[in-house]
Amino acid sequence: MKAVAFANNDIAIVAWTFGGKLPNCLGFAVYRIDVRAGTETCLPAMATFSGQQATPGRTTADDPVQKFFWKDVYAKRGGTYKYKIVPMTGTVGSLQPMPYGPLISNQVQLSPHYGSLSAYFNRGILATQATAHVLTDGSPAGSMVDELKAHIVSLRDHGRISHYAHQEIGYNARLDAIQSAVLRAKLEKLDQWNGRRRKLANAYCERLSGSGLKLPLEVLNHSRISLAAGHCGLARSALQLAEQFARRHEVGGRPLWQNQAIGFAIVEAQARVEAARLLAYRTARMSEQGMAHRRETAQAKFFAAEALLSAVNVCNRVLGGLAGHLDTPAERYLRDAYSWVAAQGTIEIQKITVAKETFAPRP
Ligand SMILES: Cc1cc2nc3c(=O)[nH]c(=O)nc-3n(C[C@H](O)[C@H](O)[C@H](O)COP(=O)(O)OP(=O)(O)OC[C@H]3O[C@@H](n4cnc5c(N)ncnc54)[C@H](O)[C@@H]3O)c2cc1C
Repeated sequence: MKAVAFANNDIAIVAWTFGGKLPNCLGFAVYRIDVRAGTETCLPAMATFSGQQATPGRTTADDPVQKFFWKDVYAKRGGTYKYKIVPMTGTVGSLQPMPYGPLISNQVQLSPHYGSLSAYFNRGILATQATAHVLTDGSPAGSMVDELKAHIVSLRDHGRISHYAHQEIGYNARLDAIQSAVLRAKLEKLDQWNGRRRKLANAYCERLSGSGLKLPLEVLNHSRISLAAGHCGLARSALQLAEQFARRHEVGGRPLWQNQAIGFAIVEAQARVEAARLLAYRTARMSEQGMAHRRETAQAKFFAAEALLSAVNVCNRVLGGLAGHLDTPAERYLRDAYSWVAAQGTIEIQKITVAKETFAPRP
């Protein structure tokens, strides 16, 4: 016999077992014990027995839960709770507690804090059969439901309506309550697990150095070269668009590029991208020749990242009021650029690596 409760910052879940089937059991009443307030509340019921009215104020002691877990969607953020599970028997409309248990769960707190980490989860949407009936009632076959479904699906994924288009702000709510409860339990151990991983990676690096194998932390020294090259490719696309636009678009009776502020901005950004490409080539060559290149890789990555950010900014500036429009790729280049420059280490992290390599004591 056991009851176990989990909670994230937003919802609590309790699951239980009585170790086997309880004869004549009609379900379970679930009570929330508010540890700090010293109160006990029977949770509201969601479904009645057939023939009974779902009147307001009914609880799981009137309409017991006929499964082995329950989500407490009324739990308050910051609250500290235990849950009491009471098996119920009798006849419908006149139920009594059974002489088993009651089970009392462990204590949980609805908190986003897990040691040094904080993680927030959203509650999502609670739908009932009654909601579904209201939505379909009187509307052309399911159209309102389809519309609502599309809206909910987009809202839970940052308001996304297609791969690159986000129509409204939305949320990041792609985990369900059970996944987030499990994740919360794991988060408490994350520092410990990461510490162990670091220790193992260092042990491998120490013992296998000079063996010719690619070692865990060394892999980044190679893969960051291709990211630097990728930054140059994205920057080139953005600048091609800017160049094309500046050639075709006329302002004051002459092509846009002939305005020095625009022409110079484009050619300077192009020069930075060419220089970034050469740095990436140099590092790739050092890698091929088996030379040490940690400093050069980090240098190539941050230089290419800065060249890319400058290129996408120039591109969007050149396009003027068209920059934010979904029918030009300029705004996508901008979002892609700010996202990709972080992959495998941001500009600041690359500079830290270069500084450490530069200022490390020499033998
Ligand atoms: C497109 C994309 C693909 C990715 N792919 C993968 C993948 O395949 N696998 C994977 O594991 N991860 C992946 N990532 C995650 C990526 O490695 C991290 O986003 C990146 O390392 C930055 O970490 P962070 O997002 O936690 O930023 P944070 O570390 O939170 O940094 C936030 C800001 O603080 C700055 N900052 C942080 N620490 C310092 C410091 N010590 N000094 C100065 N400034 C600092 C950063 O530069 C940045 O500006 C991907 C990310 C992106 C965007």
